Amino acid sequence: MSKHRYAGRVRSVEMSGIRKLFDAGGPDAINLGIGQPDFDTPDHIKEAAIAAIRAGKTGYTPNAGIPELREAICDKFARENGLSYRPEQILVTAGGSEALHLVMEALVDPGDRVLFTDPGFVSYAALATFAGGRPEGVSLDATLHIDVERAKEQLDGARVFVLNTPGNPTGAVESEESVRALVEYANDRGVTVVADEVYEHFVYEKKHVSAARFGEDVITVNAASKTYAMTGWRVGYLAAPEDYIPECLKVHQYAQACATSVSQYAALAAYTGDQSAVPAMREEYRARRDLLYAGLTGLGFDFPRPEGAFYMFVPMGRTLIRRAIESGVIIVPGEAFGTRAPDYARFSYATARENLSRAVGRIGALME
Ligand code: PMP
Repeated sequence: MSKHRYAGRVRSVEMSGIRKLFDAGGPDAINLGIGQPDFDTPDHIKEAAIAAIRAGKTGYTPNAGIPELREAICDKFARENGLSYRPEQILVTAGGSEALHLVMEALVDPGDRVLFTDPGFVSYAALATFAGGRPEGVSLDATLHIDVERAKEQLDGARVFVLNTPGNPTGAVESEESVRALVEYANDRGVTVVADEVYEHFVYEKKHVSAARFGEDVITVNAASKTYAMTGWRVGYLAAPEDYIPECLKVHQYAQACATSVSQYAALAAYTGDQSAVPAMREEYRARRDLLYAGLTGLGFDFPRPEGAFYMFVPMGRTLIRRAIESGVIIVPGEAFGTRAPDYARFSYATARENLSRAVGRIGALME
């Protein structure tokens, strides 16, 4: 029994089912549970951080981020996403996670409905709840993509719709038609779209299209974390219609002050420097995806090949999921991502090919 009192809205949220699993594996466990690149941050990015430390750039930065980085993020949007932003529309945060948190705090009033896919990334429901909102899942179709017509039925009267493509945990990439239809419908009904695009560079089929191309009331959340293998540096950002920035900035200012100074200089090098590490990582993820997909479909699992991110969401049934974890193949049960996919498990292939082959072999042995 707890001996102290806690706020109900926090108590009602569970710890992430993913983190819990990290303790589950024994010494020969194969960890396909973790959602972060296994690559090292490229050297020129590390060097920029070291240079920033040596130059004494270790104090607070402007709350919204160093001006050069906000500029560089605008250039990135123009170059990669066909979007035109001014630095006043960019807020640099401690990872995409903080950007999501700020948006929820700044937009969601008690009782407001916050929509996102179920299964979906673990943070959306928790952050919506912390903000006093009512989280609500939108279902996926049999191919694990958003069922646009069903989503539309839920959009009326909602406050926020989080659109995550490429998606975690499914690896699904939404088509341009779906993104356009969802954004237009949502904005038309006064629903703000929060576009979580942290996996935008890891797309193997189809093409990533930014939601902000199709509507005015769209807040884009992104981060250096996955693109440049920089999860621990904690640099992300949001880009929004300008009037949202001061409201989000209030929360950021009082809760965080600014993103880490040294990490911002590292991110500046990431966005302005040599980009060749990004396609190199993408090609390696693609090869791993192909390897894992061939292995799992070879065992008889029947599911569409995911087009992006570094996840595979596999219908294998609860018993086999449990037995796989017990045998040291750390995968994340679908229950961690909502209520609608308890028979699926998420495999992260951000790990060496050899681990993927061993994992398939071990699951195969359980099925004999
Ligand atoms: N969005 C999605 C869909 C994610 O999977 C993650 C990380 N797992 C994040 C946002 C947050 O990333 P970070 O805070 O590390 O930048």
